[in-house]
Amino acid sequence: MRLTVVGCAGSFPGPDSPASCYLVEAPYEGWTYRLVLDLGNGAFGALQRYTDPYAVDAVGLSHLHADHCVDMCSYYVARKYHPDGPRSRIPVYGPFGTADRLAMAYGLPLDPGMRDEFEFRAWVAGEAGRLGPFAVSVAPACHPVEAYALRLEHEGRSLVYTGDTGPTDAVADLARGADLLLSEATFHDGVDNPPDLHLTGRQAGEYAARGEVRRLVLTHVPPWYDPDEMAAEARSVYSGPLDVARPGAVFEL
Ligand SMILES: [Zn+2]
Ligand SMILES: [Zn+2]
Repeated sequence: MRLTVVGCAGSFPGPDSPASCYLVEAPYEGWTYRLVLDLGNGAFGALQRYTDPYAVDAVGLSHLHADHCVDMCSYYVARKYHPDGPRSRIPVYGPFGTADRLAMAYGLPLDPGMRDEFEFRAWVAGEAGRLGPFAVSVAPACHPVEAYALRLEHEGRSLVYTGDTGPTDAVADLARGADLLLSEATFHDGVDNPPDLHLTGRQAGEYAARGEVRRLVLTHVPPWYDPDEMAAEARSVYSGPLDVARPGAVFEL
């Protein structure tokens, strides 16, 4: 499978990157299946650099904070008002209540909201599912709202995306043995961070080391922090290949 970083700025878009958005592609039944993970502020524009937005097969939302989902409003417009007519519905996975939250974000009546454009489905923690070529499992993240970490497997390779999470064994366990751990790193170690919200660079590195993951990619670094300093924190505890996500970066696994 192939992971493309569309947007990786933490908590809000920065001058060089939209907020969270990742494109995951894999061959499937003679074509390329395209899954978009999160669609934060500004990401829908950038997504069009990497794929025809109408060639996307499904969207998975880790949680409903604006920096992970608000550009679904733009995607809704692009699908509904296309000059050749509305595009057919695609599945959108997310927390319970995703359809209503997105309807409210756009100012639509809750019924139908965006249900003519998207087929909303809820993540179920602990239950293995299938999305095109991917076996998908999710774990509850530690965050102030319902949030999930996601694990995708395809032809023996595995990608784990933490979404937003504070420290929790559920996410650490999900990451165990992953070929690539795409981990948020929002806070710095050694300062008084709010609890149950985000990981530090060091904690991301500790989860990678503990789970013996083959590659760690740090993401969701807020624009007010230096990504290289975040990487140094993770590097102090994880000795495997380590990158900091940048817009346009591609990882084959
Ligand atoms: Zn976030
Ligand atoms: Zn969040």
